[in-house]
Amino acid sequence: MKKWLYLLSIVTLFIASCSSETSTDPVDDTPMVSDDEPFVSTNPVRDFPGNFLPTGDSGGDILANDNFTNLEIQIAFVEGFRPTEEAMNNFESYLQEFSFKQEINVVYTQLDSPNEETLTLEEISDLELDNRTSYNSDDTLAIYIYFADAPSDGDDPDSNLVTLGAVYRNSSMVIFAQTIRDLAAQFSPISSINRSDVETATLNHEFGHLFGLVNLGTAMVNPHEDEEAANHCNVEGCLMRAELQFSNTGLKASAKGDIYAPACQITGHDIIKALQTRKSNAETVDLDTECRLDIEAIGARITSSTAKEY
Ligand SMILES: [Zn+2]
Ligand SMILES: [Zn+2]
Repeated sequence: MKKWLYLLSIVTLFIASCSSETSTDPVDDTPMVSDDEPFVSTNPVRDFPGNFLPTGDSGGDILANDNFTNLEIQIAFVEGFRPTEEAMNNFESYLQEFSFKQEINVVYTQLDSPNEETLTLEEISDLELDNRTSYNSDDTLAIYIYFADAPSDGDDPDSNLVTLGAVYRNSSMVIFAQTIRDLAAQFSPISSINRSDVETATLNHEFGHLFGLVNLGTAMVNPHEDEEAANHCNVEGCLMRAELQFSNTGLKASAKGDIYAPACQITGHDIIKALQTRKSNAETVDLDTECRLDIEAIGARITSSTAKEY
C-alpha cells in the first residue's frame, strides 16, 4: 500500500465515520461558508446519504418497493476483468427471484488498473469514491460492485487462504476477480467447476449480506446464526453457510460501527468443494428456508415455487 494513500484513507475514514453515525456534534454538519454563498460539498459520502451506511442496513430497500422501485447495479471492472455473461445472468436471476424491483439495470464501467500488488478495503473504498457513478436517486437504489485485478491484502496463498469477495458497506461490494480466476483455473482441470460458477456463488453470497443476512441488519425469524462464524447461516447447504466463507484471515465480521470492517470475506478452496457437491447433484447453491424467512419478513418476494425445503 502506498503511504500517501494510507494517509488519505485515514482522512476518508474519519469523514465516513462521521456520516455513518447519528452525530450530535453541531460542528460536524455546519458548512464553512458565508450565508450568501451556496454550500457545495465535494464529498460524495455526504452528497449521497443512503449509499454509505453500514453493511446490511438496506436489505428492506433492496427487496421491497416502499422507498425505491428500481435497482441500479454498477459493475466497475478493471480492464480485462469483466464478469462472465453467464455469472451476471445467474446473479440477475437471483436478484429477480427475491426482489420486487420493477427494473434492475446493470451499468458497466471499465477502469484502468490501480497498479497495486494487493488491495486493502481502505484502498478499495478510496477507489470507489473516485470511480463510483451510480448513486441513489428518487426511485432508484444504487449498488456498486468493484471487480479488482489485485488480491486482498490479507491473503495467504501459501496456506490456501484467499479472499474471493467482501462487502464493506450497505451498497458496496468487492469481487477479487483475479483471485477467482486463479482458483477456478487451478480446479477446472480436475472438476466441473468453472469461473462462472465461482463468480456466481461469490456475487450471490455477498449480496445475501446486503439483504442483511445473517443477523446483519435483518433480524432472524428463527435463530440460525453460526456460533463460530458471525453473520453466517448454520443450515447445511445454504448459500450463506460459513463453509463458503473460511474467515481465517483475521479480518472477520461485524461491520456495525466500523464502516470499513468486512462483514464477510468469502474465502478458501472449500467453496470449490461446496460447488462440486451441489453441481454433481444438479443443484445450485441457494438460500435455505431460514434465510428466506428472514428476508421475507423485511419484504422479499418469496413464492411457493421458490420456497425450497432443506
Ligand atoms: Zn459471508
Ligand atoms: Zn441460510
